[in-house]
This record gives sequence, C-alpha cells and structure tokens, in this order.
Amino acid sequence: MQEKTPVKVIDGRQLSDLLIEEMTQEVNERTQKGLPQPGLAVVLVGEDPASTIYVRNKIRCAEKAGLFSLVIRLDASCTQQALDDVVVELNERDDIHGILVQLPLPKHLSEARIINLIDPTKDVDGFHPVNVGLLSSGQAKLVPCTPLGCMEILEREMGDVSGKHAVVIGRSNIVGKPMANLLLQANCTVSIVHSKTIDAAALCRQADILVAAVGVAELVDQNWVKPGAVVIDVGINATEIDGKRKLVGDVNFADVADKCRAITPVPGGVGPMTIACLIKNTLTAAKQHDM
Ligand code: NAP
Repeated sequence: MQEKTPVKVIDGRQLSDLLIEEMTQEVNERTQKGLPQPGLAVVLVGEDPASTIYVRNKIRCAEKAGLFSLVIRLDASCTQQALDDVVVELNERDDIHGILVQLPLPKHLSEARIINLIDPTKDVDGFHPVNVGLLSSGQAKLVPCTPLGCMEILEREMGDVSGKHAVVIGRSNIVGKPMANLLLQANCTVSIVHSKTIDAAALCRQADILVAAVGVAELVDQNWVKPGAVVIDVGINATEIDGKRKLVGDVNFADVADKCRAITPVPGGVGPMTIACLIKNTLTAAKQHDM
C-alpha cells in the first residue's frame, strides 16, 4: 500500500520572521549606502481594541526591521478635516515613505475619501485606485498586504505555481480580488467563488490551490478540498468554544488537514505574513522614492 505523505502545516510566523530578516538586511544595506531609512506612518483613529493591537504589532515589526516609524493618534470624534489634514501633511513629508490609516474608521469618517487622499506612491495598504489599476493591468507596485503575504507563502512553499488551478473564495477589494489578480499574474488558472456561486464546494474541489477569504467560521470542510491541494486560510473569526473565546479560520482545519498537501493554520498562518508584507511595501515605496 502506498504511504500517505504527511500534511505540512505552514508556519506563517517562521516565514514572516524570515521575510523580516531579509528586509532588515536590505534596510541596513540602504543606510550603509547613504540612502534614506524607510519611514512608515500609521494613523489610528479612536481606541478600538483590535485596531490598537494591530497597530502595535505593525509598529513593533517596523522597528524590528530597522524602519523609522511613527503612530499618529486621533480622537474617535475627530472631524474628517482633521484626518484629511494629517494625511496631507504625511503625503508631503520626505522622511515618510509609507502611510497606513488603520481601518475601520469611525462611522462619521469616509474611508473612500481617505484611501483616495493618500499619495499612491506612499499607499502601503495598496487600496488607492491607482494601485488597484496598476495591479490589474500587470504593473503592480504596492499590493494589498494580505494577498501579497499569501503569494509569499505559496511561492516559498510551492515554487512555481504556473498552470495550477487556483480557486479564491471571496471577492472583496482587500483580499479576494487582489489575490485572484496576483495568482493570474503568476500564471495560475483562476476561479473566484462568492456568495452567489452555485455549488461552490464542487468548484473548490477542482483547486490545486484553495484560498479562503470568506469571513464564515470553518465553512470549508473536506468536501470542498481536492486531495493534495494547498490550502491558504485567510479568515479570522472570533468564536466561543467551551465558553472560551477562540480565533478560527474559514477552513475547518481538523477536518481538512488530512486531505491536503499543505495548509496554513489560524492563528499563525496568513496573519503574521500580512504584517511582514506591510514592511515589504514600505521598503518598495522607499525604493520607488529613490528613483
Ligand atoms: P468580506 O469583505 O466580508 O468578503 C467576504 C467574501 O466572501 C465576499 O466576497 C462574499 O461574497 C464571500 N462569501 C460570503 N459567504 C460566502 C459563502 N457562503 N460562500 C462563498 N462565498 C461567500 O471579507 P474580507 O475583508 O475579504 O475578509 C475575509 C476574511 O479574511 C475575514 O474573516 C477577515 O477577518 C479575514 N482577513 C484576514 C486578514 C489577515 O491578515 N489574516 C486580513 C484581512 C481579512 P459576496 O461578494 O457575494 O458577498
């Protein structure tokens, strides 16, 4: 009887450390050559606990990689004008190469307005329409961090993904659509599944690469997975198990793990790579600024 290859659980924390190490070296080389230290500014409006933790982790990571970083905190009740003014000032600063306004914003502030106001060359979230257009026309510069992190994982785990059938579950502007674009540019054959797809499981069962970015806890079970597939779980869903708060992905890890070739866990998979890719984007933005 043929022995089954054990499933590989992809360690996103380890990959993220590796990526940050590579970037730290690049940052050091830059400063030795007299080039400016890459600078990242994060704007945090209000005191949402999850956003506060995300911002803290991003800044910690930026400092680890040798970036200059600063956090600008605004009160939850600040006006649109006050937030606009902060972004305009950061757009003009020479020591800031990357600007990130932590989302979601309080309801009275316009996210679309802020995304459009950030200088596209400093838009390290990759959400500005200019960067969206560059990505979809094959000239990507600054790409949303989560899909970029997923591509880093796939390329480091699989090497060349050319010719693979990739299915992305989800079509958001932040994850699903840019993910599908990146896979297409890596020469995958790409399908996108969304809430109106008929028999999503059947389509997903054809995937060599399955990326789940749905926001529905443990939606994907083994009925959705082709044997030997690589499964990337983007989902972060807070649930309560035996009275304890726990984070789970969009994939039912215990049910699926046995069936696939490799899988990212939640937590400890895509999450850490998202932050590492923010640093990567800041470095890319600084390099663009050198030219
Ligand atoms: P989103 O904007 O809510 O988009 C969810 C997508 O899933 C939509 O396109 C929706 O389809 C589709 N969908 C919903 N239910 C479905 C179903 N039953 N079958 C098939 N498709 C379905 O979410 P998002 O911002 O992309 O985030 C997705 C997940 O990733 C969330 O859990 C989020 O917390 C997580 N996330 C993680 C990171 C990270 O760093 N790890 C970063 C960002 C997001 P329609 O378009 O038809 O409505």
